[in-house]
Amino acid sequence: MADLRFDNRVAVITGAGRGLGRAYALLLAERGAKVVVNDPGVSMSGDSTDEGPAEALVQEIKAAGGEAIANTDSVATAEGGQAMIDAAINTYGRIDIIIHNAGIVRRAPLAEMSHADFELVLDVHLRGGFNVVRAAMPHMQQAGYGRIVLTGSVNGLYGKSENTNYSVAKAGLVGLSNTIAVEGEAFNIKSNVILPGAVTRMAEGLDTSQYPPMEPEMVAPLVGWLSHESCSVSGEMLISMAGRTAVAYTSETRGVYLPDLTMEAVAENIDAIHNTDNHLTFPVLPSGNLDHLMYCFQMAKQG
Ligand code: NAD
Repeated sequence: MADLRFDNRVAVITGAGRGLGRAYALLLAERGAKVVVNDPGVSMSGDSTDEGPAEALVQEIKAAGGEAIANTDSVATAEGGQAMIDAAINTYGRIDIIIHNAGIVRRAPLAEMSHADFELVLDVHLRGGFNVVRAAMPHMQQAGYGRIVLTGSVNGLYGKSENTNYSVAKAGLVGLSNTIAVEGEAFNIKSNVILPGAVTRMAEGLDTSQYPPMEPEMVAPLVGWLSHESCSVSGEMLISMAGRTAVAYTSETRGVYLPDLTMEAVAENIDAIHNTDNHLTFPVLPSGNLDHLMYCFQMAKQG
């Protein structure tokens, strides 16, 4: 297969100065994309630092013959999301790819988590996704083209202790991506969620000595493909961790038809309700929402 390239494509990558985002930016730039490297260079908990990872990466990309500009706005505000899309449009005239990868961590047990820490983490991950996609969507719809990758986490699917804010935000991004996929379908705009795993500074405090190789560069090819014109999927969640590439998906049990439902009937039928034999999946596209509805209606009709 010929190399998949991004010539004439313009990408905005949030939180691209370090870790996973940096690996994505280097891969796309090496393959011809013009990249807006967004990163205000904050600490892992989101406090400002005097580091300049965005500018440093731009210099690295340029030294290797690529094209990039730095943007240090925060994706956590509407203005920040708009500014990074404006930077792409004003400098390169278009926006084809968004990889929303920025993230912070503020851990605490649920019973002790401050409302401020809950909001701040949602601001960067979840509202950040909305902020940057909202600003780009009119341009992408007009161009009839877009590739969007939002960063989820297995924590959003399975939960994780001391991670309420993070897990909520990551789960919310799945709803955002699925809706972009539905609304974007008519415009050749595809949106997917990456569920990555890599040893970055987010692993600080963990003993990673027994981990298999888990470099950010190992995740980048999947995100690259999801960002590419040839990407054939939308409304999906793809996993890349320690060399494993897979799809995570929602499924439902067949369920039981109990129109006169009572609490006791739930108790008596819980095994049947729970039975995963012949379970159902309704892919987001072309019509997962409707397929779910029709399946329920069909059961009701059949009685
Ligand atoms: P990282 O801390 O190395 O990189 C995150 C970057 O986001 C930092 O450079 C930071 O400055 C930037 N950032 C923070 N707040 C920002 C804001 N408001 N606007 C713009 N940029 C901001 O972390 P990483 O491990 O590379 O994580 C990248 C993404 O992948 C995050 O969304 C994270 O939640 C997700 N993730 C990582 C893992 C993993 O194993 N590393 C697992 C699941 C999900």
